[in-house]
Amino acid sequence: MPLQSKFPDLGLTIFSRMSALAAETGAINLSQGFPDFACDAALLNGVNAALQAGHNQYAPMPGLPLLRQAIAHKFEASAGLLVDPEREITITAGATQALYTAIGTVLRAGDEAIILEPAYDSYAPAIVAQGAVPVRVSLAPPHFAVDWQAVAAAVTPRTRLIIVNNPNNPATSIFSRADLDALAGIAEQHDLLVLSDEVYEHLVFDGQQHSSVLSHPQLRPRSFAVYSFGKTFHATGWKVGYCVAAPALMAEFRKLHQYLVFSVSTPMQHALAAHLQLAASWQGLAVFYQQKRDHLAAGLQAAGFTLLPSAATYFQLVDYSAIRPDLGELAFAEWLTREHGVASIPVSAFYADGRDHHIVRFCFAKQQQTLDAAISRLAGLR
Ligand code: PMP
Ligand code: GLN
Repeated sequence: MPLQSKFPDLGLTIFSRMSALAAETGAINLSQGFPDFACDAALLNGVNAALQAGHNQYAPMPGLPLLRQAIAHKFEASAGLLVDPEREITITAGATQALYTAIGTVLRAGDEAIILEPAYDSYAPAIVAQGAVPVRVSLAPPHFAVDWQAVAAAVTPRTRLIIVNNPNNPATSIFSRADLDALAGIAEQHDLLVLSDEVYEHLVFDGQQHSSVLSHPQLRPRSFAVYSFGKTFHATGWKVGYCVAAPALMAEFRKLHQYLVFSVSTPMQHALAAHLQLAASWQGLAVFYQQKRDHLAAGLQAAGFTLLPSAATYFQLVDYSAIRPDLGELAFAEWLTREHGVASIPVSAFYADGRDHHIVRFCFAKQQQTLDAAISRLAGLR
Protein backbone atom coordinates (compact mmCIF):
# COMPACT_ATOMS: atom_id res chain seq x y z
CA MET A 1 0.00 0.00 0.00
CA PRO A 2 1.53 3.36 -1.02
CA LEU A 3 0.08 5.13 2.05
CA GLN A 4 2.47 5.16 4.98
CA SER A 5 0.48 5.77 8.13
CA LYS A 6 0.85 9.30 9.42
CA PHE A 7 -0.52 8.06 12.75
CA PRO A 8 1.03 4.62 13.29
CA ASP A 9 0.42 4.80 17.03
CA LEU A 10 -3.30 5.61 16.88
CA GLY A 11 -5.99 2.95 17.09
CA LEU A 12 -9.71 3.12 17.88
CA THR A 13 -10.46 5.38 20.86
CA ILE A 14 -11.00 3.77 24.23
CA PHE A 15 -14.61 5.04 24.13
CA SER A 16 -15.36 3.21 20.87
CA ARG A 17 -13.63 0.09 22.16
CA MET A 18 -15.41 -0.08 25.50
CA SER A 19 -18.81 0.76 23.98
CA ALA A 20 -18.30 -2.01 21.42
CA LEU A 21 -17.35 -4.47 24.16
CA ALA A 22 -20.42 -3.45 26.17
CA ALA A 23 -22.67 -4.01 23.14
CA GLU A 24 -21.03 -7.34 22.33
CA THR A 25 -21.36 -8.68 25.87
CA GLY A 26 -24.71 -7.09 26.76
CA ALA A 27 -23.11 -5.11 29.56
CA ILE A 28 -24.60 -1.90 30.97
CA ASN A 29 -22.58 0.80 29.30
CA LEU A 30 -21.22 3.24 31.87
CA SER A 31 -18.06 3.70 29.77
CA GLN A 32 -18.43 6.23 26.93
CA GLY A 33 -19.96 9.47 28.20
CA PHE A 34 -23.48 9.97 26.87
CA PRO A 35 -26.94 10.20 28.44
CA ASP A 36 -29.33 7.26 27.96
CA PHE A 37 -32.40 9.46 28.51
CA ALA A 38 -34.27 11.64 26.04
CA CYS A 39 -33.56 15.29 25.48
CA ASP A 40 -36.31 17.84 26.08
CA ALA A 41 -39.39 17.25 23.89
CA ALA A 42 -39.56 20.98 23.13
CA LEU A 43 -36.06 20.79 21.65
CA LEU A 44 -37.03 17.85 19.45
CA ASN A 45 -40.18 19.67 18.31
CA GLY A 46 -38.00 22.66 17.51
CA VAL A 47 -35.92 20.55 15.09
CA ASN A 48 -39.06 19.29 13.41
CA ALA A 49 -40.45 22.80 13.15
CA ALA A 50 -37.19 24.07 11.64
CA LEU A 51 -37.14 21.26 9.07
CA GLN A 52 -40.77 21.89 8.11
CA ALA A 53 -40.21 25.63 7.94
CA GLY A 54 -37.64 24.99 5.24
CA HIS A 55 -34.45 25.77 7.15
CA ASN A 56 -32.63 23.17 5.13
CA GLN A 57 -29.91 25.08 3.29
CA TYR A 58 -26.45 26.26 4.37
CA ALA A 59 -26.26 28.28 7.55
CA PRO A 60 -23.93 31.30 7.55
CA MET A 61 -20.31 30.21 7.98
CA PRO A 62 -19.86 31.41 11.61
CA GLY A 63 -23.27 30.06 12.60
CA LEU A 64 -26.85 31.30 12.68
CA PRO A 65 -26.95 34.88 14.06
CA LEU A 66 -29.96 33.94 16.23
CA LEU A 67 -28.03 31.13 17.86
CA ARG A 68 -24.93 33.24 18.42
CA GLN A 69 -27.08 35.94 20.01
CA ALA A 70 -28.75 33.38 22.26
CA ILE A 71 -25.33 32.10 23.34
CA ALA A 72 -24.17 35.65 24.10
CA HIS A 73 -27.29 36.18 26.22
CA LYS A 74 -26.64 32.98 28.10
CA PHE A 75 -23.06 34.04 28.90
CA GLU A 76 -24.37 37.31 30.26
CA ALA A 77 -27.23 35.75 32.23
CA SER A 78 -25.25 32.84 33.66
CA ALA A 79 -21.86 34.42 34.30
CA GLY A 80 -22.14 38.15 33.65
CA LEU A 81 -19.80 37.75 30.67
CA LEU A 82 -20.02 40.04 27.67
CA VAL A 83 -19.33 38.22 24.40
CA ASP A 84 -19.81 39.77 20.95
CA PRO A 85 -21.96 37.34 18.94
CA GLU A 86 -20.80 38.86 15.65
CA ARG A 87 -17.07 38.64 16.10
CA GLU A 88 -16.38 36.30 19.02
CA ILE A 89 -18.57 33.20 18.61
CA THR A 90 -18.44 30.47 15.94
CA ILE A 91 -20.77 27.46 15.86
CA THR A 92 -18.88 24.21 15.30
CA ALA A 93 -19.55 20.54 14.61
CA GLY A 94 -19.26 19.65 18.28
CA ALA A 95 -16.51 20.59 20.68
CA THR A 96 -14.19 18.15 18.90
CA GLN A 97 -14.13 20.25 15.71
CA ALA A 98 -13.75 23.46 17.73
CA LEU A 99 -10.73 21.97 19.51
CA TYR A 100 -9.19 20.71 16.28
CA THR A 101 -9.76 24.02 14.51
CA ALA A 102 -8.28 26.07 17.36
CA ILE A 103 -5.25 23.78 17.50
CA GLY A 104 -4.84 23.98 13.70
CA THR A 105 -5.22 27.77 13.82
CA VAL A 106 -2.43 28.23 16.36
CA LEU A 107 0.17 25.53 15.78
CA ARG A 108 2.79 25.25 13.06
CA ALA A 109 5.13 22.33 12.45
CA GLY A 110 7.74 22.15 15.21
CA ASP A 111 5.71 24.16 17.73
CA GLU A 112 5.00 22.73 21.18
CA ALA A 113 1.67 22.65 23.00
CA ILE A 114 1.43 21.84 26.70
CA ILE A 115 -1.33 19.44 27.76
CA LEU A 116 -2.16 18.31 31.26
CA GLU A 117 -2.56 14.57 31.81
CA PRO A 118 -4.91 12.81 32.27
CA ALA A 119 -5.90 14.51 29.00
CA TYR A 120 -9.06 14.10 26.94
CA ASP A 121 -8.10 11.88 24.03
CA SER A 122 -8.52 14.25 21.09
CA TYR A 123 -5.91 16.86 22.06
CA ALA A 124 -2.64 15.07 21.32
CA PRO A 125 -3.63 13.65 17.89
CA ALA A 126 -4.82 17.12 16.79
CA ILE A 127 -1.46 18.59 17.85
CA VAL A 128 0.50 15.84 16.10
CA ALA A 129 -1.55 16.32 12.91
CA GLN A 130 -0.11 19.86 12.66
CA GLY A 131 3.44 18.50 12.87
CA ALA A 132 3.59 20.01 16.36
CA VAL A 133 4.60 18.31 19.59
CA PRO A 134 2.47 17.67 22.71
CA VAL A 135 4.42 18.34 25.90
CA ARG A 136 2.79 16.58 28.82
CA VAL A 137 2.56 17.66 32.45
CA SER A 138 0.92 15.05 34.61
CA LEU A 139 -1.60 15.44 37.41
CA ALA A 140 -1.94 12.84 40.14
CA PRO A 141 -4.98 11.30 41.79
CA PRO A 142 -7.00 11.71 43.88
CA HIS A 143 -7.26 15.52 43.45
CA PHE A 144 -5.42 15.98 40.14
CA ALA A 145 -4.30 19.45 41.26
CA VAL A 146 -2.18 21.33 38.73
CA ASP A 147 1.43 21.95 39.71
CA TRP A 148 1.81 25.30 37.93
CA GLN A 149 5.55 25.35 38.59
CA ALA A 150 5.80 22.13 36.59
CA VAL A 151 3.73 23.75 33.82
CA ALA A 152 6.04 26.80 33.82
CA ALA A 153 9.06 24.49 33.71
CA ALA A 154 7.64 22.74 30.63
CA VAL A 155 7.61 25.99 28.61
CA THR A 156 10.34 26.27 25.97
CA PRO A 157 11.00 28.84 23.22
CA ARG A 158 8.88 26.63 20.92
CA THR A 159 5.79 26.59 23.17
CA ARG A 160 2.78 28.34 21.59
CA LEU A 161 -0.27 26.94 23.37
CA ILE A 162 -1.44 25.56 26.69
CA ILE A 163 -4.54 23.35 26.55
CA VAL A 164 -6.64 23.01 29.68
CA ASN A 165 -9.88 21.19 30.40
CA ASN A 166 -11.99 22.77 33.11
CA PRO A 167 -14.05 20.97 34.43
CA ASN A 168 -11.76 18.07 33.69
CA ASN A 169 -12.68 14.78 32.03
CA PRO A 170 -11.65 12.32 33.41
CA ALA A 171 -10.25 13.93 36.58
CA THR A 172 -13.66 15.46 37.47
CA SER A 173 -11.76 18.40 39.03
CA ILE A 174 -12.31 22.14 38.51
CA PHE A 175 -10.03 25.17 38.47
CA SER A 176 -10.06 27.68 41.29
CA ARG A 177 -9.53 31.37 40.69
CA ALA A 178 -5.93 30.83 41.81
CA ASP A 179 -5.48 28.23 39.05
CA LEU A 180 -6.65 30.75 36.45
CA ASP A 181 -4.30 33.37 37.91
CA ALA A 182 -1.37 30.96 37.69
CA LEU A 183 -2.28 30.00 34.12
CA ALA A 184 -2.59 33.69 33.19
CA GLY A 185 0.79 34.46 34.73
CA ILE A 186 2.53 31.79 32.66
CA ALA A 187 0.66 32.68 29.47
CA GLU A 188 1.53 36.37 29.82
CA GLN A 189 5.13 35.83 30.80
CA HIS A 190 5.80 33.63 27.77
CA ASP A 191 3.24 35.21 25.41
CA LEU A 192 1.30 31.95 24.97
CA LEU A 193 -2.22 31.26 23.78
CA VAL A 194 -4.65 29.16 25.82
CA LEU A 195 -7.25 26.67 24.63
CA SER A 196 -9.78 25.92 27.35
CA ASP A 197 -12.16 22.99 26.90
CA GLU A 198 -15.18 23.92 29.04
CA VAL A 199 -17.80 21.48 27.74
CA TYR A 200 -18.83 20.53 31.30
CA GLU A 201 -19.29 24.18 32.40
CA HIS A 202 -22.78 23.54 33.85
CA LEU A 203 -22.00 20.20 35.52
CA VAL A 204 -20.29 21.53 38.64
CA PHE A 205 -21.46 20.17 42.01
CA ASP A 206 -21.74 20.91 45.71
CA GLY A 207 -22.46 24.61 45.19
CA GLN A 208 -19.10 25.29 43.55
CA GLN A 209 -18.79 27.63 40.57
CA HIS A 210 -17.21 27.17 37.18
CA SER A 211 -14.53 29.80 36.40
CA SER A 212 -14.11 30.32 32.69
CA VAL A 213 -10.96 31.66 31.06
CA LEU A 214 -13.36 34.16 29.49
CA SER A 215 -13.98 35.68 32.94
CA HIS A 216 -10.29 36.35 33.52
CA PRO A 217 -9.12 39.73 32.21
CA GLN A 218 -5.60 38.56 31.39
CA LEU A 219 -6.74 35.28 29.80
CA ARG A 220 -9.66 36.73 27.86
CA PRO A 221 -7.58 38.22 24.99
CA ARG A 222 -5.37 35.15 24.58
CA SER A 223 -7.85 32.27 24.95
CA PHE A 224 -10.10 30.09 22.87
CA ALA A 225 -12.92 28.58 24.96
CA VAL A 226 -14.86 25.57 23.68
CA TYR A 227 -18.39 24.35 24.52
CA SER A 228 -20.79 21.59 23.46
CA PHE A 229 -24.59 21.43 23.25
CA GLY A 230 -24.18 17.66 23.45
CA LYS A 231 -23.45 17.97 27.18
CA THR A 232 -25.82 20.79 28.03
CA PHE A 233 -28.89 19.48 26.20
CA HIS A 234 -28.39 15.70 26.49
CA ALA A 235 -27.80 15.29 22.75
CA THR A 236 -24.25 14.10 22.16
CA GLY A 237 -25.21 12.73 18.74
CA TRP A 238 -26.07 16.13 17.32
CA LYS A 239 -22.45 17.24 17.32
CA VAL A 240 -23.09 20.96 17.68
CA GLY A 241 -20.84 23.13 19.82
CA TYR A 242 -19.13 26.50 19.69
CA CYS A 243 -15.89 28.34 20.19
CA VAL A 244 -15.51 31.76 21.80
CA ALA A 245 -12.43 33.95 21.41
CA ALA A 246 -11.44 37.60 21.08
CA PRO A 247 -12.06 39.04 17.58
CA ALA A 248 -8.45 38.81 16.38
CA LEU A 249 -8.22 35.14 17.37
CA MET A 250 -11.70 34.31 16.09
CA ALA A 251 -10.97 35.87 12.69
CA GLU A 252 -8.08 33.40 12.29
CA PHE A 253 -10.16 30.51 13.62
CA ARG A 254 -12.83 31.19 10.99
CA LYS A 255 -10.29 31.06 8.17
CA LEU A 256 -9.72 27.39 8.94
CA HIS A 257 -13.28 26.64 10.08
CA GLN A 258 -14.69 27.69 6.68
CA TYR A 259 -12.56 25.10 4.91
CA LEU A 260 -12.98 22.31 7.47
CA VAL A 261 -16.80 22.25 7.66
CA PHE A 262 -17.81 25.64 6.22
CA SER A 263 -20.97 25.65 8.35
CA VAL A 264 -22.98 23.47 10.73
CA SER A 265 -26.43 21.85 10.40
CA THR A 266 -29.03 24.60 9.89
CA PRO A 267 -32.21 23.05 11.41
CA MET A 268 -30.30 22.02 14.54
CA GLN A 269 -29.05 25.59 14.96
CA HIS A 270 -32.59 26.96 14.68
CA ALA A 271 -33.87 24.50 17.29
CA LEU A 272 -30.97 25.22 19.64
CA ALA A 273 -31.45 28.98 19.30
CA ALA A 274 -35.11 28.71 20.28
CA HIS A 275 -34.36 26.36 23.15
CA LEU A 276 -31.50 28.40 24.52
CA GLN A 277 -33.79 31.39 24.93
CA LEU A 278 -35.61 29.46 27.67
CA ALA A 279 -33.45 30.11 30.74
CA ALA A 280 -34.66 26.87 32.28
CA SER A 281 -33.09 24.91 29.42
CA TRP A 282 -29.62 25.15 30.95
CA GLN A 283 -30.39 25.79 34.60
CA GLY A 284 -30.78 22.99 37.10
CA LEU A 285 -28.29 20.69 35.36
CA ALA A 286 -25.96 20.62 38.35
CA VAL A 287 -28.71 19.56 40.74
CA PHE A 288 -30.01 16.99 38.26
CA TYR A 289 -26.60 15.37 37.80
CA GLN A 290 -25.49 15.71 41.41
CA GLN A 291 -28.35 13.40 42.42
CA LYS A 292 -27.21 10.84 39.88
CA ARG A 293 -23.63 11.15 41.08
CA ASP A 294 -24.64 10.56 44.68
CA HIS A 295 -26.81 7.59 43.77
CA LEU A 296 -24.14 5.83 41.71
CA ALA A 297 -21.40 6.75 44.18
CA ALA A 298 -23.30 5.12 47.06
CA GLY A 299 -23.76 1.95 45.02
CA LEU A 300 -20.11 1.83 43.97
CA GLN A 301 -18.96 2.32 47.54
CA ALA A 302 -21.25 -0.45 48.78
CA ALA A 303 -19.77 -2.73 46.11
CA GLY A 304 -16.29 -2.24 47.56
CA PHE A 305 -14.85 0.53 45.39
CA THR A 306 -13.02 3.50 46.91
CA LEU A 307 -14.53 6.75 45.63
CA LEU A 308 -12.42 9.62 44.35
CA PRO A 309 -13.90 13.10 44.71
CA SER A 310 -16.20 14.01 41.81
CA ALA A 311 -16.47 17.79 41.78
CA ALA A 312 -17.83 18.09 38.24
CA THR A 313 -18.62 16.43 34.85
CA TYR A 314 -20.87 13.36 34.63
CA PHE A 315 -18.22 10.90 35.69
CA GLN A 316 -17.25 9.18 38.92
CA LEU A 317 -13.74 7.81 39.37
CA VAL A 318 -13.12 4.85 41.65
CA ASP A 319 -10.10 2.95 42.91
CA TYR A 320 -10.70 -0.79 42.58
CA SER A 321 -7.60 -1.96 44.50
CA ALA A 322 -9.72 -3.55 47.22
CA ILE A 323 -11.51 -5.70 44.61
CA ARG A 324 -8.91 -6.90 42.08
CA PRO A 325 -5.47 -5.50 42.95
CA ASP A 326 -3.95 -8.03 40.56
CA LEU A 327 -5.43 -6.47 37.41
CA GLY A 328 -4.25 -3.41 35.48
CA GLU A 329 -6.90 -0.83 34.55
CA LEU A 330 -7.68 -2.05 31.04
CA ALA A 331 -7.75 -5.67 32.19
CA PHE A 332 -10.00 -4.70 35.10
CA ALA A 333 -12.41 -2.74 32.86
CA GLU A 334 -12.61 -5.68 30.44
CA TRP A 335 -13.06 -8.18 33.26
CA LEU A 336 -15.80 -6.10 34.87
CA THR A 337 -17.59 -5.79 31.53
CA ARG A 338 -17.40 -9.49 30.70
CA GLU A 339 -17.85 -11.00 34.14
CA HIS A 340 -20.10 -8.50 35.91
CA GLY A 341 -21.86 -6.81 33.00
CA VAL A 342 -20.87 -3.18 33.66
CA ALA A 343 -18.55 -1.26 31.32
CA SER A 344 -16.20 1.52 32.48
CA ILE A 345 -13.17 3.40 31.13
CA PRO A 346 -9.59 2.79 32.33
CA VAL A 347 -8.06 6.15 33.28
CA SER A 348 -4.68 4.94 31.97
CA ALA A 349 -6.10 5.65 28.49
CA PHE A 350 -5.77 9.38 29.25
CA TYR A 351 -2.01 9.15 29.94
CA ALA A 352 0.38 8.77 27.01
CA ASP A 353 2.56 6.36 28.99
CA GLY A 354 -0.52 4.39 30.06
CA ARG A 355 0.37 4.76 33.73
CA ASP A 356 -1.81 2.69 35.98
CA HIS A 357 -3.36 3.98 39.20
CA HIS A 358 -5.97 1.21 39.52
CA ILE A 359 -8.67 3.76 38.74
CA VAL A 360 -11.62 3.43 36.35
CA ARG A 361 -14.28 5.95 35.27
CA PHE A 362 -18.03 5.36 35.39
CA CYS A 363 -20.54 7.64 33.60
CA PHE A 364 -23.64 8.54 35.62
CA ALA A 365 -25.53 10.35 32.83
CA LYS A 366 -28.08 7.55 32.97
CA GLN A 367 -31.69 6.96 33.94
CA GLN A 368 -32.34 5.86 37.50
CA GLN A 369 -33.22 2.34 36.31
CA THR A 370 -29.91 2.01 34.41
CA LEU A 371 -27.94 3.12 37.46
CA ASP A 372 -29.97 0.75 39.67
CA ALA A 373 -29.33 -2.17 37.33
CA ALA A 374 -25.59 -1.43 37.29
CA ILE A 375 -25.50 -1.11 41.07
CA SER A 376 -27.26 -4.41 41.52
CA ARG A 377 -24.85 -6.17 39.15
CA LEU A 378 -21.87 -4.65 40.97
CA ALA A 379 -23.25 -5.73 44.33
CA GLY A 380 -22.14 -9.19 43.21
CA LEU A 381 -18.52 -8.13 43.60
CA ARG A 382 -18.78 -8.27 47.38
N1 PMP B 1 -14.00 17.62 25.44
C1 PMP B 1 -14.28 16.82 26.45
C2 PMP B 1 -13.55 16.99 27.74
C3 PMP B 1 -15.26 15.84 26.32
O1 PMP B 1 -15.53 15.03 27.34
C4 PMP B 1 -15.94 15.70 25.09
C5 PMP B 1 -16.99 14.66 24.83
N2 PMP B 1 -17.39 13.90 25.80
C6 PMP B 1 -15.59 16.55 24.05
C7 PMP B 1 -14.62 17.50 24.25
C8 PMP B 1 -16.23 16.43 22.71
O2 PMP B 1 -17.46 17.06 22.61
P1 PMP B 1 -18.36 16.91 21.32
O3 PMP B 1 -19.07 15.60 21.44
O4 PMP B 1 -19.27 18.08 21.35
O5 PMP B 1 -17.46 16.92 20.14
N1 GLN C 1 -16.26 12.50 25.55
C1 GLN C 1 -16.86 11.21 25.72
C2 GLN C 1 -16.28 10.55 26.97
O1 GLN C 1 -15.40 11.08 27.62
C3 GLN C 1 -16.60 10.32 24.55
C4 GLN C 1 -16.70 10.92 23.22
C5 GLN C 1 -16.17 9.95 22.19
O2 GLN C 1 -16.53 8.80 22.18
N2 GLN C 1 -15.28 10.42 21.39
O3 GLN C 1 -16.70 9.48 27.31
